[in-house]
Amino acid sequence: MISFDNVTKFYTDGTVAVDRLSFVAPSSKITMLVGPSGCGKTTSLRMINRLIEPSSGVIALNGQSTREMDVVQLRRKIGYVIQNAGLFPHKTVRDNVAVTARLNGATRHAARKTALDLLDRVGLSPEMGQRYPWQLSGGQQQRVGVARALAADPEFMLMDEPFSAVDPVVREQLQDEFLRLQSAIGKTIIMVTHDIDEAMKLGDRVAVFRPGGRLAQIDTPAMLLNHPGDAFVADFIGRDRGYRKLAFSAIPSGLALSGEPCAAVGMPVAEARERALGQWILVTDNNLPLGWFDISQEKAQILAGDLNLSSTFAPLSGSLRQLMDAVLSSPSGRGIVVDDNRQLLGSVNIEQAFGAAHQPMPVEQRHAI
Ligand code: ADP
Ligand code: MG
Repeated sequence: MISFDNVTKFYTDGTVAVDRLSFVAPSSKITMLVGPSGCGKTTSLRMINRLIEPSSGVIALNGQSTREMDVVQLRRKIGYVIQNAGLFPHKTVRDNVAVTARLNGATRHAARKTALDLLDRVGLSPEMGQRYPWQLSGGQQQRVGVARALAADPEFMLMDEPFSAVDPVVREQLQDEFLRLQSAIGKTIIMVTHDIDEAMKLGDRVAVFRPGGRLAQIDTPAMLLNHPGDAFVADFIGRDRGYRKLAFSAIPSGLALSGEPCAAVGMPVAEARERALGQWILVTDNNLPLGWFDISQEKAQILAGDLNLSSTFAPLSGSLRQLMDAVLSSPSGRGIVVDDNRQLLGSVNIEQAFGAAHQPMPVEQRHAI
């Protein structure tokens, strides 16, 4: 647990970067700090490992004030990940990670082994370990940054916009990998972002800052969406929060699915035309949806290369946002619903999806049942 009790930071020029900040980041959870630029997020983070000293107030780790701790000891307990990873350019990737383990007293051999294990955990092969940072993509460098922060096996992790320098597709991958990693390692994490979608996706709890270094609200993502505390929070969370809210709502268990006719790769198009409900037919492989085929094409056979792969398939155990996305991304206007093994269950049209969204049930409630 990391706690802030009435913490203020003012710089000598009179800037109040953080103003009477109090909140708790619970153990083994991800707490996101989000807010507009200059609202004191980085300052708050850097006060935890005392790269910046608070002007007043108390920051405590598991109840112990950081001011009373030796700063070297304190930083050993805390992994720190920054944007652009901050890797040593003249060390190999493996040694970049190993150096943290060495600092914590591991032998050279043990440190290298730890480094390779951690690189594997973040999805990088041993071959990657031989390279230098500049030989890696931005996303791969960010993974190394995470591995390096984990090398001392710290109880706490501070992450300052770790994924914001990479393109949106890679960012989503990194976020998904990070959530998987966290579910295995259960660190106490505080992460800074300016991206509200990232905050809502990754955070168990999200602290929204307002300009002037003030905390506007801290809550679970679902609570923030459903009960924004004031106009600033509501506005910051965004105009499309009705849509975002769907990400936190389960598909109703009683949702009626329609049967969806299917074709297979290799099937004569004439046969597919007889089955199809309209211009598009779903192509499956052993009940696994692959994509859509346009039967108006002058083709003899359905070929894998002719499939429209643009649509997403919604798991029935998933969210209403996934269901809606399945409908809106489908060229046929019918959203495909699958089970947890990605096997076809049926389809819904836009009216059915809207009907389900009309009276959403919170995901948490559904899980509790
Ligand atoms: P964020 O990370 O939310 O963008 P920061 O914590 O970096 O914000 O900055 C908070 C405020 O403190 C900003 O107004 C910034 O200009 C100011 N600030 C940051 N560092 C210093 C400093 N060393 N001296 C004076 N003002 C600073
Ligand atoms: Mg910042």
